[in-house]
Amino acid sequence: MNYFISKRKNKIRRLSFFFLGIMAITINFIYAGTLENYFDELVDKSPHPPGSKNHLLVKKYLKKQLKKNNAVIEEQLFQYDNPYIGLTNGYNIIAFYRGNSDENIVFCSHWDTRPAADKEKNPNLKKKPIVGANDGNSSTAVLLKLSEYLNNLNNLKHNVYLLFFDAEDSGKRSKDYCLGSKYFVNNYNKIKIKYGILIDMIGDKNLVIEREGFSDLYASKLTDSIWRVAKEELGYSFFKDKVGYYVMDDHYYFLKKNIPVVNIIDFDYKHWHKLSDTKENCSVNNMKKILNLLKYIVNNPEKIKISK
Ligand SMILES: [Zn+2]
Repeated sequence: MNYFISKRKNKIRRLSFFFLGIMAITINFIYAGTLENYFDELVDKSPHPPGSKNHLLVKKYLKKQLKKNNAVIEEQLFQYDNPYIGLTNGYNIIAFYRGNSDENIVFCSHWDTRPAADKEKNPNLKKKPIVGANDGNSSTAVLLKLSEYLNNLNNLKHNVYLLFFDAEDSGKRSKDYCLGSKYFVNNYNKIKIKYGILIDMIGDKNLVIEREGFSDLYASKLTDSIWRVAKEELGYSFFKDKVGYYVMDDHYYFLKKNIPVVNIIDFDYKHWHKLSDTKENCSVNNMKKILNLLKYIVNNPEKIKISK
């Protein structure tokens, strides 16, 4: 090969790498998701109950975003007897960010949506799957945005695990719920969890967070300190000291094993398990408030006290 030509080619190659680099930075900048982007992307792929085509699409989407946000990702496959469709694959997605101490904190959400709108009155509507804008998607979008935040954080004080549980919401009897978190608690033994926070249905336009019953009973100190931070540090008067519902949710099996995990949930949502659980009935602004609470806790771990 002629030396001159090859030198020129090299120069062209270098230039094209340079432009590709700029393009990559630009694309990354454009697609650095806002919370709303993440929420919209998830809702656009909903309903996505386990066993559906959309379910696999959302799984792929979650992993792609977490990979982009440089998380260490694990997928935990399990099988369960789904009362709606029989034997079904469930997938928990585990995303890890290493911090400056060995303590492990977990933030959790369920990412599946419910296969049936059983709170509808009309028997034909009851059989249809819900979009789950609030129930499933709101909290998942918050954790995705949190993953972006953790990736850009210089001083992460503790290890953080973001746990996206599957098969929370395909139950009929209470023992059919929360199967992803149950599987995780019984099978993921390689870490000791200091404490955790579960978020669920935090996208209601009229967001009111009462103390959830099981959290209050079995992790009262942790509940106290989260509520104190929300009200006193962030001025969130929508956090109420009253104990509200006892909700069979993804924190339940952690609490049974004496791992303090508190559920932040607004269970008074009139579109719960109905076809009207759609984007129009959610507030991204309220979801941002919960995101800010989690960020605050990440940065101020000394404010959080736990109980066993
Ligand atoms: Zn639900």
